[in-house]
Amino acid sequence: MNQPSSPVHSPGAPVLKVAFLSESPADEAALHILVGAVLKTPFTIVQSSLRARGWPSVEQVLPAILRHLHFKTDADGLVVVVDSDDSPVHTAEHETPGYYHPHCRICRLRGVFRRVLKNLPPARGRDRVLRAVGVAVPAVEAWYLCGRDTSVTEEAWVKGQATGRVPYTRAELKWRVYGTERPTLMHETRRAVQEVTRHHGDVRRLENDFPQGFGSLARDLRSWSRPA
Ligand SMILES: [Zn+2]
Repeated sequence: MNQPSSPVHSPGAPVLKVAFLSESPADEAALHILVGAVLKTPFTIVQSSLRARGWPSVEQVLPAILRHLHFKTDADGLVVVVDSDDSPVHTAEHETPGYYHPHCRICRLRGVFRRVLKNLPPARGRDRVLRAVGVAVPAVEAWYLCGRDTSVTEEAWVKGQATGRVPYTRAELKWRVYGTERPTLMHETRRAVQEVTRHHGDVRRLENDFPQGFGSLARDLRSWSRPA
């Protein structure tokens, strides 16, 4: 059990129970730190029953994981983060009520939460498992480089997609973070944790440089502390 510490926790308040679904255990280690930085409250980690590796596996196992967490665990929320790869980046237009982009991974993952949760009866004293969805553009290594390599931003990637000249490839991002395209899991995890720890719990730069993919995740997480 990992319990990130935090200075802003009122004694006696319930500790959040959070489950994670991402593309690799290295991503998940980094996400524990980033989620702690956004929530600013201690949480415990709920192990989910299934693992996924990459897209579309995450989307495919998500319904079963949501049902498992809802009925069989006390999880308060589920954090899901995937890479965008070459899919379209979420935009403000996608936030219009009723809008759904069939290829945007944020829209798709939110759609799965909606479809699965609307049919579930309340269980274990709560109505539903809370949602936090993020998409790293184009890959989680871009988040790891935030603040260290200023050329790596969502805006740069979106411009590149529009002009057909991407500013960097996913392989290049891996090189910049790991010094190799094929890191061992241990090296990958250590570098991921090193880079996200560099923000010292302040995620403003990440929200600024990755306003959709990381911003959506942060906004979802902050909504957890406000009653719907
Ligand atoms: Zn979208």
